[in-house]
Amino acid sequence: MRKTVIAGNWKMHKLLNSAGQFIDDIKSSVPSAMKTETIVCAPYLFLPLLVEKAKGTDIRIAAQNMHFEEKGAFTGEVSPGMLADIGVSHCVIGHSERREMFGETDDSVNKKTHAAFAHNILPIICVGESLEQRESGVMESHIRQQVENALSGLSDEQISKTIIAYEPIWAIGTGKTATDEEANDVCKHIRKTIAELSNQEIADQVIIQYGGSVKPDNIGDLLAKSDIDGALVGGASLEADSFVKLLEEGT
Ligand code: 13P
Repeated sequence: MRKTVIAGNWKMHKLLNSAGQFIDDIKSSVPSAMKTETIVCAPYLFLPLLVEKAKGTDIRIAAQNMHFEEKGAFTGEVSPGMLADIGVSHCVIGHSERREMFGETDDSVNKKTHAAFAHNILPIICVGESLEQRESGVMESHIRQQVENALSGLSDEQISKTIIAYEPIWAIGTGKTATDEEANDVCKHIRKTIAELSNQEIADQVIIQYGGSVKPDNIGDLLAKSDIDGALVGGASLEADSFVKLLEEGT
């Protein structure tokens, strides 16, 4: 039985005060049941404060990106060791916005995934197709390739601990959600790909989230599907009230 993992991805939103206040506001509402895990993915600058505020709660704090190198002349970058050192538990890797706007590739996603595990940071690896890829019939092969490349060289144990977020690019921030069936079909395809890479037992342990215009009123139906184990939520995760509703609907 897989647990449910609900993660809010703030992207480039909030200021320090409102970020800290958010954790104070949701603290008492976070389900402590082992079945649901709550993650907040925040900009680097807020991470130390959020980790501090989340101490003693079941809220996990994640970064939205990291470099794969340990240290060196990489102006403006943050290393996995730096994130682990302050108590960050997860990191989003290969979000489509980073792939599209900041040159992230399957190769850098794979390097970052290895680097994350080397520091006991759990990766939330994003995959997903554009509308053009979906309509031209290459969606399945594209997603298979993204998953295979991301997980290349990992041990079975590492694969089992990886979170995959399926985020169709055309559904991000557009108000267009994939139907429950469409989302579940792709999540199933991802699990099948993982089973072929490792084995079914490992694939059955991997948490696969859906992301793309998830809201309190559609999360329940999405999570009721066989292969959707959680959600990676942008816009609807920004306000504490709305995020708490997502946690309640998803629990
Ligand atoms: P929205 O929920 O705003 O569509 O964003 C989804 C997303 O990109 C989460 O990583």
